[in-house]
Amino acid sequence: MTAKLDMDKLTQEVKALARLHGAVLVGVASIDRFDPMPPFHDKAPGGRHPRDYVPNARSVISIAQPVLNAVMEAPAALADTDYAMIAPDIKYAYLEKLYDTGGHAVQDRMLEYISQHVGQRLQMDGFDAMIFPTPGMHPAMDPPAPPLTEHQMWEGPSDTWRRAHNPFGYALGAFSHRHAATRAGLGEFGYSSVVLTPEFGPRQRFNSIITEAELVPDPLITEPICLRDNCLLCLKACPMFALTMRDDPDVKDYRSVESVDRNEIFIDTPAKVHAPSCRHRKDRTGGSPHRCFYGDCIRICPVPSKPARLSQRLQQVMSP
Ligand code: SF4
Ligand code: SF4
Repeated sequence: MTAKLDMDKLTQEVKALARLHGAVLVGVASIDRFDPMPPFHDKAPGGRHPRDYVPNARSVISIAQPVLNAVMEAPAALADTDYAMIAPDIKYAYLEKLYDTGGHAVQDRMLEYISQHVGQRLQMDGFDAMIFPTPGMHPAMDPPAPPLTEHQMWEGPSDTWRRAHNPFGYALGAFSHRHAATRAGLGEFGYSSVVLTPEFGPRQRFNSIITEAELVPDPLITEPICLRDNCLLCLKACPMFALTMRDDPDVKDYRSVESVDRNEIFIDTPAKVHAPSCRHRKDRTGGSPHRCFYGDCIRICPVPSKPARLSQRLQQVMSP
Protein backbone atom coordinates (compact mmCIF):
# COMPACT_ATOMS: atom_id res chain seq x y z
CA MET A 1 0.00 0.00 0.00
CA THR A 2 2.81 2.40 0.88
CA ALA A 3 4.59 1.77 -2.44
CA LYS A 4 1.31 2.40 -4.33
CA LEU A 5 0.76 5.64 -2.42
CA ASP A 6 4.32 6.76 -3.12
CA MET A 7 3.83 6.02 -6.83
CA ASP A 8 0.60 8.06 -6.91
CA LYS A 9 2.22 10.91 -5.02
CA LEU A 10 5.33 11.03 -7.21
CA THR A 11 3.20 10.90 -10.37
CA GLN A 12 1.05 13.80 -9.20
CA GLU A 13 4.09 15.83 -8.11
CA VAL A 14 5.95 15.29 -11.37
CA LYS A 15 2.87 16.23 -13.41
CA ALA A 16 2.31 19.33 -11.28
CA LEU A 17 5.95 20.35 -11.74
CA ALA A 18 5.69 19.99 -15.51
CA ARG A 19 2.50 22.07 -15.54
CA LEU A 20 4.00 24.69 -13.24
CA HIS A 21 6.77 25.27 -15.77
CA GLY A 22 4.46 25.50 -18.76
CA ALA A 23 3.40 22.04 -19.95
CA VAL A 24 -0.27 22.11 -20.96
CA LEU A 25 -0.69 18.38 -21.62
CA VAL A 26 1.08 15.79 -19.47
CA GLY A 27 0.68 12.01 -19.72
CA VAL A 28 2.53 8.93 -18.50
CA ALA A 29 3.27 5.74 -20.45
CA SER A 30 4.42 2.54 -18.79
CA ILE A 31 7.43 0.89 -20.39
CA ASP A 32 5.47 -2.15 -21.65
CA ARG A 33 3.64 0.17 -24.07
CA PHE A 34 6.87 0.48 -26.05
CA ASP A 35 6.56 -3.17 -27.05
CA PRO A 36 5.00 -3.54 -30.53
CA MET A 37 1.25 -2.85 -30.31
CA PRO A 38 -1.68 -3.25 -32.72
CA PRO A 39 -2.62 -2.27 -35.35
CA PHE A 40 0.87 -1.98 -36.94
CA HIS A 41 3.13 -3.59 -34.33
CA ASP A 42 5.92 -1.11 -35.12
CA LYS A 43 9.13 -1.61 -33.19
CA ALA A 44 11.28 1.24 -31.88
CA PRO A 45 14.22 1.58 -34.31
CA GLY A 46 17.64 0.53 -33.02
CA GLY A 47 18.98 2.93 -30.40
CA ARG A 48 15.62 4.63 -29.91
CA HIS A 49 13.81 2.44 -27.40
CA PRO A 50 13.46 4.08 -23.93
CA ARG A 51 15.70 1.36 -22.46
CA ASP A 52 18.47 2.24 -24.92
CA TYR A 53 18.74 5.50 -22.99
CA VAL A 54 17.79 4.40 -19.45
CA PRO A 55 18.40 0.66 -19.03
CA ASN A 56 15.98 0.33 -16.11
CA ALA A 57 13.34 2.66 -17.58
CA ARG A 58 9.84 2.03 -16.23
CA SER A 59 7.96 5.12 -17.44
CA VAL A 60 7.97 7.79 -20.13
CA ILE A 61 6.41 11.17 -19.40
CA SER A 62 4.98 12.98 -22.43
CA ILE A 63 4.55 16.76 -22.29
CA ALA A 64 3.06 19.17 -24.82
CA GLN A 65 2.47 22.85 -25.51
CA PRO A 66 0.01 24.12 -28.11
CA VAL A 67 0.82 26.19 -31.16
CA LEU A 68 -1.49 29.19 -30.81
CA ASN A 69 -4.25 29.23 -33.41
CA ALA A 70 -3.39 32.72 -34.67
CA VAL A 71 0.30 31.75 -35.00
CA MET A 72 -0.68 28.68 -37.00
CA GLU A 73 -3.01 30.59 -39.28
CA ALA A 74 -1.13 33.87 -39.81
CA PRO A 75 1.42 32.85 -42.49
CA ALA A 76 -1.14 31.20 -44.76
CA ALA A 77 -3.74 33.92 -44.20
CA LEU A 78 -1.21 36.68 -44.94
CA ALA A 79 0.02 34.89 -48.06
CA ASP A 80 -2.75 36.48 -50.10
CA THR A 81 -2.32 39.94 -48.52
CA ASP A 82 0.01 42.76 -49.53
CA TYR A 83 2.62 42.72 -46.82
CA ALA A 84 3.91 46.28 -46.44
CA MET A 85 7.64 46.92 -46.04
CA ILE A 86 8.62 43.34 -46.96
CA ALA A 87 10.14 42.85 -50.41
CA PRO A 88 8.01 40.44 -52.48
CA ASP A 89 10.90 38.04 -53.06
CA ILE A 90 11.42 37.44 -49.33
CA LYS A 91 7.75 37.42 -48.31
CA TYR A 92 7.41 33.64 -48.20
CA ALA A 93 10.66 33.11 -46.30
CA TYR A 94 9.56 35.88 -43.93
CA LEU A 95 6.20 34.26 -43.27
CA GLU A 96 7.76 30.82 -42.76
CA LYS A 97 10.15 32.39 -40.25
CA LEU A 98 7.21 33.97 -38.45
CA TYR A 99 5.63 30.56 -38.01
CA ASP A 100 8.91 28.79 -37.32
CA THR A 101 9.52 31.06 -34.34
CA GLY A 102 6.07 31.26 -32.73
CA GLY A 103 5.01 27.77 -33.74
CA HIS A 104 8.23 25.81 -33.33
CA ALA A 105 11.26 27.42 -31.70
CA VAL A 106 9.37 28.76 -28.67
CA GLN A 107 7.77 25.41 -27.82
CA ASP A 108 10.97 23.52 -28.66
CA ARG A 109 13.04 25.43 -26.10
CA MET A 110 10.32 25.63 -23.46
CA LEU A 111 9.65 21.88 -23.59
CA GLU A 112 13.38 21.18 -23.19
CA TYR A 113 13.44 23.52 -20.19
CA ILE A 114 10.42 21.75 -18.64
CA SER A 115 12.09 18.38 -19.27
CA GLN A 116 15.18 19.48 -17.36
CA HIS A 117 13.03 20.57 -14.40
CA VAL A 118 11.25 17.21 -14.34
CA GLY A 119 14.45 15.23 -14.95
CA GLN A 120 16.41 16.88 -12.16
CA ARG A 121 13.49 16.39 -9.74
CA LEU A 122 13.42 12.66 -10.56
CA GLN A 123 17.16 12.33 -10.26
CA MET A 124 17.11 14.01 -6.83
CA ASP A 125 14.56 11.36 -5.81
CA GLY A 126 17.01 8.67 -6.88
CA PHE A 127 15.64 7.86 -10.36
CA ASP A 128 17.70 8.24 -13.53
CA ALA A 129 15.97 10.37 -16.16
CA MET A 130 16.82 11.19 -19.78
CA ILE A 131 15.77 14.34 -21.63
CA PHE A 132 15.89 15.23 -25.34
CA PRO A 133 15.89 17.99 -27.91
CA THR A 134 12.34 18.67 -29.06
CA PRO A 135 12.94 18.67 -32.85
CA GLY A 136 14.99 16.32 -35.02
CA MET A 137 18.74 16.77 -34.96
CA HIS A 138 20.95 18.07 -37.76
CA PRO A 139 24.44 18.07 -36.28
CA ALA A 140 27.14 20.01 -38.12
CA MET A 141 30.22 17.96 -39.02
CA ASP A 142 33.47 19.45 -37.71
CA PRO A 143 36.35 19.99 -40.15
CA PRO A 144 38.27 18.37 -41.75
CA ALA A 145 35.05 16.71 -43.03
CA PRO A 146 33.09 19.38 -44.89
CA PRO A 147 29.93 20.48 -43.09
CA LEU A 148 26.79 18.81 -44.36
CA THR A 149 24.07 21.07 -45.63
CA GLU A 150 20.61 20.72 -44.14
CA HIS A 151 19.61 19.12 -47.43
CA GLN A 152 22.36 16.50 -47.10
CA MET A 153 21.45 15.79 -43.47
CA TRP A 154 18.03 14.71 -44.62
CA GLU A 155 18.88 13.00 -47.84
CA GLY A 156 22.42 11.76 -47.27
CA PRO A 157 25.77 13.16 -48.41
CA SER A 158 25.70 11.81 -51.98
CA ASP A 159 23.55 9.99 -54.52
CA THR A 160 25.64 6.82 -54.06
CA TRP A 161 25.23 6.87 -50.29
CA ARG A 162 21.54 7.62 -50.64
CA ARG A 163 20.92 4.70 -52.98
CA ALA A 164 22.76 2.36 -50.60
CA HIS A 165 21.54 3.55 -47.22
CA ASN A 166 18.53 5.82 -47.36
CA PRO A 167 16.48 5.41 -50.52
CA PHE A 168 13.40 6.80 -48.80
CA GLY A 169 15.04 10.01 -47.57
CA TYR A 170 14.02 9.38 -43.99
CA ALA A 171 15.63 10.97 -40.94
CA LEU A 172 14.92 10.44 -37.26
CA GLY A 173 15.02 12.44 -34.08
CA ALA A 174 16.82 10.97 -31.07
CA PHE A 175 13.52 9.64 -29.68
CA SER A 176 9.99 9.69 -31.08
CA HIS A 177 8.01 12.12 -28.93
CA ARG A 178 4.94 11.41 -31.04
CA HIS A 179 5.04 7.68 -30.29
CA ALA A 180 5.54 8.49 -26.60
CA ALA A 181 2.51 10.82 -26.70
CA THR A 182 0.17 8.14 -28.06
CA ARG A 183 1.48 5.65 -25.50
CA ALA A 184 0.93 8.18 -22.71
CA GLY A 185 -2.73 8.51 -23.70
CA LEU A 186 -2.49 12.07 -25.01
CA GLY A 187 -3.71 11.36 -28.54
CA GLU A 188 -3.49 9.23 -31.67
CA PHE A 189 -1.74 9.59 -35.01
CA GLY A 190 -3.75 11.13 -37.81
CA TYR A 191 -3.51 10.60 -41.55
CA SER A 192 -1.02 13.49 -41.55
CA SER A 193 1.39 11.31 -39.51
CA VAL A 194 1.12 13.96 -36.79
CA VAL A 195 -0.39 13.14 -33.38
CA LEU A 196 -3.84 14.64 -32.81
CA THR A 197 -5.12 15.40 -29.30
CA PRO A 198 -8.74 16.10 -28.34
CA GLU A 199 -7.66 19.53 -27.05
CA PHE A 200 -5.61 20.90 -29.94
CA GLY A 201 -5.96 18.50 -32.87
CA PRO A 202 -2.52 18.40 -34.54
CA ARG A 203 -1.48 21.86 -33.25
CA GLN A 204 1.01 21.14 -30.48
CA ARG A 205 4.62 20.14 -29.94
CA PHE A 206 5.70 17.24 -27.75
CA ASN A 207 8.74 16.27 -25.75
CA SER A 208 9.41 13.26 -23.48
CA ILE A 209 11.26 12.32 -20.31
CA ILE A 210 12.33 8.70 -19.79
CA THR A 211 12.73 7.64 -16.18
CA GLU A 212 13.43 4.69 -13.91
CA ALA A 213 10.56 5.82 -11.67
CA GLU A 214 7.47 3.64 -11.81
CA LEU A 215 4.68 6.18 -12.30
CA VAL A 216 0.93 5.68 -12.72
CA PRO A 217 0.21 5.31 -16.46
CA ASP A 218 -2.64 7.25 -18.05
CA PRO A 219 -5.34 5.38 -19.98
CA LEU A 220 -4.82 5.07 -23.73
CA ILE A 221 -7.15 6.86 -26.14
CA THR A 222 -10.15 4.63 -26.92
CA GLU A 223 -12.12 6.71 -29.45
CA PRO A 224 -10.68 7.85 -32.82
CA ILE A 225 -9.70 11.51 -33.02
CA CYS A 226 -8.64 11.70 -36.69
CA LEU A 227 -11.73 11.85 -38.93
CA ARG A 228 -10.12 9.38 -41.31
CA ASP A 229 -11.76 8.82 -44.72
CA ASN A 230 -14.54 11.28 -43.85
CA CYS A 231 -11.94 14.03 -44.08
CA LEU A 232 -8.64 13.35 -45.96
CA LEU A 233 -7.93 17.11 -45.97
CA CYS A 234 -4.30 16.78 -44.87
CA LEU A 235 -3.55 14.46 -47.79
CA LYS A 236 -5.32 16.77 -50.25
CA ALA A 237 -3.59 19.88 -48.86
CA CYS A 238 -0.03 18.73 -49.56
CA PRO A 239 1.18 20.33 -52.82
CA MET A 240 4.28 18.12 -52.73
CA PHE A 241 2.35 14.81 -52.53
CA ALA A 242 4.61 13.98 -49.58
CA LEU A 243 1.88 12.21 -47.58
CA THR A 244 0.54 8.78 -48.45
CA MET A 245 -1.21 6.06 -46.47
CA ARG A 246 0.77 2.99 -45.51
CA ASP A 247 -1.50 0.80 -47.64
CA ASP A 248 -1.12 2.96 -50.77
CA PRO A 249 -0.19 0.38 -53.45
CA ASP A 250 1.55 3.06 -55.54
CA VAL A 251 4.05 4.01 -52.84
CA LYS A 252 6.08 1.17 -51.39
CA ASP A 253 8.68 1.42 -48.65
CA TYR A 254 9.54 -0.35 -45.42
CA ARG A 255 6.46 1.14 -43.73
CA SER A 256 4.05 -0.32 -46.31
CA VAL A 257 1.28 -2.62 -45.10
CA GLU A 258 -1.38 -4.58 -46.94
CA SER A 259 -4.22 -2.69 -45.30
CA VAL A 260 -4.85 -0.08 -42.63
CA ASP A 261 -7.67 -0.98 -40.25
CA ARG A 262 -9.46 2.38 -39.99
CA ASN A 263 -11.39 1.20 -36.89
CA GLU A 264 -8.29 0.84 -34.74
CA ILE A 265 -6.71 3.61 -32.69
CA PHE A 266 -3.50 4.73 -34.39
CA ILE A 267 -0.84 4.18 -31.74
CA ASP A 268 1.64 4.14 -34.65
CA THR A 269 1.32 6.26 -37.76
CA PRO A 270 -1.06 5.02 -40.49
CA ALA A 271 0.75 7.21 -43.05
CA LYS A 272 4.11 7.77 -44.69
CA VAL A 273 5.82 11.12 -45.10
CA HIS A 274 8.44 11.51 -47.81
CA ALA A 275 10.68 13.90 -45.91
CA PRO A 276 12.73 15.17 -48.90
CA SER A 277 9.55 16.11 -50.79
CA CYS A 278 8.29 18.00 -47.75
CA ARG A 279 11.64 19.80 -47.39
CA HIS A 280 11.58 20.73 -51.08
CA ARG A 281 8.41 22.76 -50.56
CA LYS A 282 10.77 25.68 -49.95
CA ASP A 283 12.13 25.40 -53.49
CA ARG A 284 8.72 26.11 -54.95
CA THR A 285 8.44 29.57 -56.38
CA GLY A 286 5.35 31.58 -57.12
CA GLY A 287 2.42 32.64 -54.99
CA SER A 288 0.28 30.86 -52.46
CA PRO A 289 -1.51 28.61 -55.00
CA HIS A 290 1.76 26.68 -55.24
CA ARG A 291 3.17 26.93 -51.75
CA CYS A 292 2.88 25.09 -48.47
CA PHE A 293 3.67 27.28 -45.50
CA TYR A 294 5.45 24.69 -43.43
CA GLY A 295 2.53 22.75 -42.03
CA ASP A 296 -0.44 23.28 -44.33
CA CYS A 297 -1.36 19.63 -43.60
CA ILE A 298 -1.73 20.64 -39.93
CA ARG A 299 -3.21 24.04 -40.64
CA ILE A 300 -6.16 22.61 -42.57
CA CYS A 301 -7.09 19.89 -40.04
CA PRO A 302 -10.69 20.41 -38.79
CA VAL A 303 -9.97 18.82 -35.38
CA PRO A 304 -10.95 20.06 -32.80
CA SER A 305 -12.65 22.78 -34.91
CA LYS A 306 -12.43 24.23 -38.40
CA PRO A 307 -9.61 26.77 -38.75
CA ALA A 308 -10.81 30.38 -38.83
CA ARG A 309 -8.37 31.73 -41.44
CA LEU A 310 -6.82 29.93 -44.38
CA SER A 311 -5.03 30.87 -47.59
CA GLN A 312 -7.06 30.85 -50.81
CA ARG A 313 -5.24 27.65 -51.74
CA LEU A 314 -6.39 25.87 -48.58
CA GLN A 315 -9.90 27.30 -48.84
CA GLN A 316 -10.13 25.71 -52.28
CA VAL A 317 -8.91 22.39 -50.88
CA MET A 318 -11.61 22.58 -48.21
CA SER A 319 -14.45 23.48 -50.54
CA PRO A 320 -16.48 20.42 -51.58
S1 SF4 B 1 4.34 20.45 -44.31
FE1 SF4 B 1 3.50 20.99 -46.34
S2 SF4 B 1 4.83 19.98 -47.84
FE2 SF4 B 1 5.21 19.01 -45.83
S3 SF4 B 1 3.83 17.22 -45.76
FE3 SF4 B 1 2.71 18.95 -44.81
S4 SF4 B 1 1.55 19.92 -46.50
FE4 SF4 B 1 3.12 18.59 -47.42
S1 SF4 C 1 -6.94 16.61 -41.72
FE1 SF4 C 1 -8.56 15.08 -41.44
S2 SF4 C 1 -7.67 13.13 -42.10
FE2 SF4 C 1 -5.98 14.58 -41.75
S3 SF4 C 1 -5.33 14.25 -39.63
FE3 SF4 C 1 -6.86 15.90 -39.59
S4 SF4 C 1 -8.82 14.83 -39.22
FE4 SF4 C 1 -7.33 13.27 -39.88
